[in-house]
Amino acid sequence: MQDRPTRLLVLGGSTEASELVRQLPPRATTLSLAGRTTTPGPVPDGVARRVGGFGGVPGLVAYLRAESIPAVVDGTHPFAAHMPFHAAAACDACAVPRLRLLRPPWSPRSGDDWTMVASMDEAAAAVAARPSARAFLAIGRQELVAFEGCDPSRLVVRSIEPRPQGVLDGADAILDRGPFAFEAELALLQERRIDLLVTKNAGGEATRSKLEAARQLGIPVVVVARPPSPPGPTVATVAEAAAWAVAQLAAVADETAGAVT
Ligand code: NAP
Repeated sequence: MQDRPTRLLVLGGSTEASELVRQLPPRATTLSLAGRTTTPGPVPDGVARRVGGFGGVPGLVAYLRAESIPAVVDGTHPFAAHMPFHAAAACDACAVPRLRLLRPPWSPRSGDDWTMVASMDEAAAAVAARPSARAFLAIGRQELVAFEGCDPSRLVVRSIEPRPQGVLDGADAILDRGPFAFEAELALLQERRIDLLVTKNAGGEATRSKLEAARQLGIPVVVVARPPSPPGPTVATVAEAAAWAVAQLAAVADETAGAVT
């Protein structure tokens, strides 16, 4: 009977995780997705993809053991609040090496008018404090419920998939997926007469252009800070994560060869 190939586990959810998967040996890689989007992007031939939660830390521990996972790259989104901690706990329990791939946050530049807030509730309070402002919520659909105290007729909401029924009925909806070009963001802010932008501090290039457009138009921005991340080795670039992952796979291959000779 042929052994199953050893596969490193990439926890996806970010652009960088998808890019990392494209750079790794396909038959040595599993990409795991939470399953929040109904049409996830394609993966290279040979990459194994699994979708759906593991069932908390115990479920992930069981998965790491059952699949003999040699190493984990946590490439979840900077706003994934739970999975990074689950990954840290499960990898510690199984003595599996783990690396977090986390792009740097944005920081304000000259000409920016940012209000930093710690949570979506605080962002909603900042919007409610300016009832005459037309606010653009560029935060996805999962946390829109925090804005239910705001007048929906003053809100423009952008998400990849439609917001849940009954949430902010009456708000203007834009269904779109980044990356977004600067000119398009500029036009959108002008056409929709936006005078307040709300964003998560996601970092990265794909969605930065809305901040540049807001700066150009002098539009204030409410920026929601990231949730905490577990301690442990972290890199900011796909290249660094790929080098680490390839080294982990090479170490496993060396161990296996040593055991055979
Ligand atoms: P979360 O709070 O960290 O995760 C909630 C639960 O979803 C986890 O406990 C886990 O379920 C499951 N999960 C998350 N990432 C997974 C993965 N890569 N593979 C398998 N299961 C996963 O994250 P979230 O905010 O709900 O986001 C869900 C996913 O969307 C994450 O992968 C994240 O990277 C991505 N995402 C999030 C945002 C955001 O703004 N929050 C934006 C873009 C993309 P179990 O406990 O059952 O294992």
